[in-house]
Amino acid sequence: MAKLLDKQRYKCALGAMQTVQAIDRALPILHSGPGCAQKLSESTGSSGYFSPNIFPCTSINEKDVVFGGVKKLDSTIENALKVIDADLYVVLTGCIPEIVGDDSGEVVSRYEDAEKPVVYAPTAGFKGNNYKGHEQVVDAIVDQYLKKSDKKQKGLINIWADVPYQDLFWLGNLRQLEKLIAELGLTPNTIFGYKRGIENINKIPEAEFNLLVSPWVGLNNVKKMEKKFGTPYLHYPNLPIGATETSKFLREVGKFAGVPEEKVEAVIKEHEDYYYYLISRYADLFLENRVINKQFTVVADAQYSLAVTKFLVNDLGLIPAKQFVVDDTPKNHRDRIAEEFKKLNFGIEAEVSFETDGYKIHEEIKGHDYHGYPLVLGGYYEKEVTENLKGNFLNISWPVQDKVVFDNFYAGYEGGIRLIEDIYTIAVSRFN
Ligand code: SF4
Repeated sequence: MAKLLDKQRYKCALGAMQTVQAIDRALPILHSGPGCAQKLSESTGSSGYFSPNIFPCTSINEKDVVFGGVKKLDSTIENALKVIDADLYVVLTGCIPEIVGDDSGEVVSRYEDAEKPVVYAPTAGFKGNNYKGHEQVVDAIVDQYLKKSDKKQKGLINIWADVPYQDLFWLGNLRQLEKLIAELGLTPNTIFGYKRGIENINKIPEAEFNLLVSPWVGLNNVKKMEKKFGTPYLHYPNLPIGATETSKFLREVGKFAGVPEEKVEAVIKEHEDYYYYLISRYADLFLENRVINKQFTVVADAQYSLAVTKFLVNDLGLIPAKQFVVDDTPKNHRDRIAEEFKKLNFGIEAEVSFETDGYKIHEEIKGHDYHGYPLVLGGYYEKEVTENLKGNFLNISWPVQDKVVFDNFYAGYEGGIRLIEDIYTIAVSRFN
């Protein structure tokens, strides 16, 4: 029987047009129906040099369904190359051309000798969500554009973390990770955001290793790069937020990269000293407030659900109620991720549910006894249910509708402080 999915937290794979958009001067070319880009582009902060309203699109219609849309795709690519000044063109296919069997890969291969690179990623909605689409875009660049390099740059590290735009904090988080890696004396290389783009893409095969900071998204990509370029990878399954996790992260990366232990510990000490200076200044707030209850729930993708749970337990001493992972994590990753939720300080373990149905999540939140005001960090969908329970709510995951994020971040030591500020701002303003 057909099932209804209430309050879905992701888009279809074609939503990966936002992954392309996050690469400076990269242009998505859509081989899809005319409404797809419109439907997938409602996030804030998505205008700029290229925006969804001007992405070239074949706008295929009934006639193309009958006779095929490859001619239209060919002319759309040709004209995009003529009139739009980009560094990289990424053809993304939607449902209709893939259902009718257009050979988009063959059309794109005709542009192998074009002045600028043109690659193609199959991102039909029925193939998966935008997390999978994000992987498809990175795969397309690795498979179709990049070549193995004999030149390796000592200390050059490719960093892969959040899915741009799906995570509103993607830009700030990536910059924080870059900063931390640089402090270890390594050279970070990322491809998303301001002044990165094609130059950094070209450096990918020269890296000493790939650093993947994510529970599962991107694992296929780094494995592919290991096979194609011989680049080893470090899979760090948890976005580090706050002192406990960020110090662990630096130690593990430092060890993998062969950074002397004294250097790693010196970086950690400097950050921790300042971090705990700030925490101690506000210890009275943490200990004496009566409105941040000990129990919390996070409703977010695997990246945020895990990262925020670790932070709230390890750094703030809160107790996890049930946590929800809403990104439709592929089944083969679930047990491993659930194990990560058990690796918390003080012998605490968190129960996690991989659940995409908002109705079921809300029923569980309503049915749980938080022994006081619930603290819920999640998508905007959780605002109402939390308010009805007189709880404290912070919108940290998609959809985000109550804040504007330019380059704010939660990753790293500083990110942990930002998250504490956001949570306790709600606490102190509760009775205003
Ligand atoms: S599901 Fe298919 S038709 Fe709908 S927006 Fe995505 S690609 Fe377009």
